[in-house]
Parts: sequence; structure tokens; C-alpha cells
Amino acid sequence: MKNGFDLKYLGVMFDMAGCPNCCRHCWLGDHRNGQMSINEFRDIASQFKAWRDENGQSIKEMGFFSWWREPDFRDDYRELWELEKELSSPGRSERFELLSTWRLVRDESYAVWASGLPPKKCQITFFGMEENTDWGMRRKGAYKDQLSATERCLAVGIAPRWQLFITKRNTPNELDEFLKLMKSLNLYERCKSLGQEFEFFIGGISPEGSGYEIEDLRIELNDLPMIPREMISLNSDGKNFGIPETRLLANLLRDDNPPDISVVRPCLAIDADYNVYPNIAEPTEWWKLGNLKADGVDRIMGIYNNCATPGMTANRTIKISEFARIYGNPKSQKLYTKNDLICRFLHQWGADYIKGAGKA
Ligand code: SF4
Repeated sequence: MKNGFDLKYLGVMFDMAGCPNCCRHCWLGDHRNGQMSINEFRDIASQFKAWRDENGQSIKEMGFFSWWREPDFRDDYRELWELEKELSSPGRSERFELLSTWRLVRDESYAVWASGLPPKKCQITFFGMEENTDWGMRRKGAYKDQLSATERCLAVGIAPRWQLFITKRNTPNELDEFLKLMKSLNLYERCKSLGQEFEFFIGGISPEGSGYEIEDLRIELNDLPMIPREMISLNSDGKNFGIPETRLLANLLRDDNPPDISVVRPCLAIDADYNVYPNIAEPTEWWKLGNLKADGVDRIMGIYNNCATPGMTANRTIKISEFARIYGNPKSQKLYTKNDLICRFLHQWGADYIKGAGKA
């Protein structure tokens, strides 16, 4: 099959409740928060389990998730986790280094419950200090929540994993202050005393979804010396900040391969309006496989197997050099990894496609 889907495994993520935040870096973009019922979740799982390909073969193993934005946002999060385990193939229900930091602050029993699950780590995101973090998560009080969530985690033996986005809004004036904050909370020592490790990493903002809208805040080459060396040395991710677009372009303009971006594990994402996305890139119109209610599972899976959405087709057929010629900015000193820049090209292409411009 063209997308490498070999029937061994498929994940299906259903955005049952949505998210309390509306983060400016969110590659998932701005989707409506729904109120989907447990029966709807069960029904979707049944449809995918009953699906057969043209040779009558079913998917061998499936994982079902009741969220693809904030986990555990719904009050019945315990029941939903039990349901995920019931519906998924044995060993295929999963937890990640993500909890609802919103709920950690508002529901005292949540941290204790979460401490009984793997992986006993919780990612907590900052855009700098208070004003910038509230701005970044588009919610007043978000920064204070992130600090309180950190304490709630530590109190039950969950290691916080702090992510900081470095942008032109917080560089250079807030980075020293942020380092001081991290030290003042003794996070390394406190995690160690729990037998855990504190992780700090500098996140990269993917230029798609909502993240594309803050591209003007992406740091440039001349911002790099303003990032404290200590902060760079603490960055557990170890990745560099990328290189200027102008330099990356020189190579991309000679690359005649298509982007061919893919995922390790095939997974579909279903929003509150039953639109289904392949989870290869951002869940936007040009990647959309269809609508489960209107089109049905057979049609959706047919489109998925044939990589037949505009985004999937462009991803397999348009040369990177062509994208670079149309969307590259030879004067840009903004820092990107190669993959992020290609991702931006695909986003720009998709937005043009939808507008009917179809430049490539
Ligand atoms: S980044 Fe996470 S918390 Fe923020 S809006 Fe997206 S899904 Fe919600």
C-alpha cells in the first residue's frame, strides 16, 4: 500500500473533549471542543474493527484513544482510560509523557491517579515568564497553572519535564529569569530525591497549524548569541536550533525528491465533527480523509490506503526543489531544521491549494 499501511496496526484517536488551551504553537491548530459520548466512541471503534480491505483482511491490532489534544480533560477521564484499554488490542492502550496540567491544578485526586500510570513523567510547557506563557497558551492564569502542576506532580512522584519555547518575545530579556526560576525551584534535586530525573528542553515550534501564525517570532541567526550558554547546556534534547533558511535553501533547491514525510505508527485522528485526518502532518482541509458520518469507514480507509488526499498526494509527488523555488525566502535568516522548513512549505502549499491558487 502506498502509505506503508500494512494492516499490522492502526491507532484511532477521537477528540472527545478537546482542550482547555488554545496554544499559539499548537501544530494541531484550532479545532472545536466537542462533547462526544461514550457510545459514539464505542461505535467508532466497532466500525474500524469491522472494516476489511479488498482481500477481506482486517487490521491485526488496534489502539483507541479518547483524545488527541489534552489527555484527561474530561471529568470521566478514569472511565475513558478503562474504555481505551477495553477497546484496544492487548498491550495497545498507551499513555505518554503528557497529563492535563489544567486538571492537575483543579482536581486534587488526579495526580494520585496519574501517578499509578506509566511513564511517571509530565511535560509542562512555557513560553517564557508569566505574561508570555499566558499569551502563548492564550489563557490567563496558564503560567501559574504550569507552576502549580509542577508541584502537584512532584508531590506524587511524577517527574515534571519542562519545555520552553524560545521566540523573539522572550529573547534575550526573559531567558536569564527563566533559568533563575528553574534553579530556585530545585527541580533537578527534587526529582533526584524521587529517584527520577528532571528534564528541561527547548522546544521547536513546527510551522504548521497555529504555529505557522507565529512565524514572525521565530528566532534568527543573530539571536543565537543572546541565549544563555547555561540554558543551552541544560537542554536535554541536545538538538541545535537549526540553520538559517537562506543556507538550507541552497540544498533544498537541488533536492528532487518529494518530502515523503511519514509516521512510524499509522494513526487516524477524528475531530468533534467526525472529520478524519491521517495524522501525518497537521489536521487541515488538505490532509483530510473525509467525514466518518458522511463518507463511511470504507471510503475513508480507501483514501488512506491510496494516499489520495491533496496533502498526501503533494507529499509524495511534488519535488522539494519545486516547493523551495516557490515558497523559499532566500533572504531569510530564520532558523529551521530541514524537516521544519519542508513542513512550512507543505503548509504554504496547502493553504494556497485551498484558496485555489495551486501554485505548485
Ligand atoms: S499544544 Fe496541547 S495543550 Fe496546547 S492547544 Fe494544542 S493540544 Fe491543547
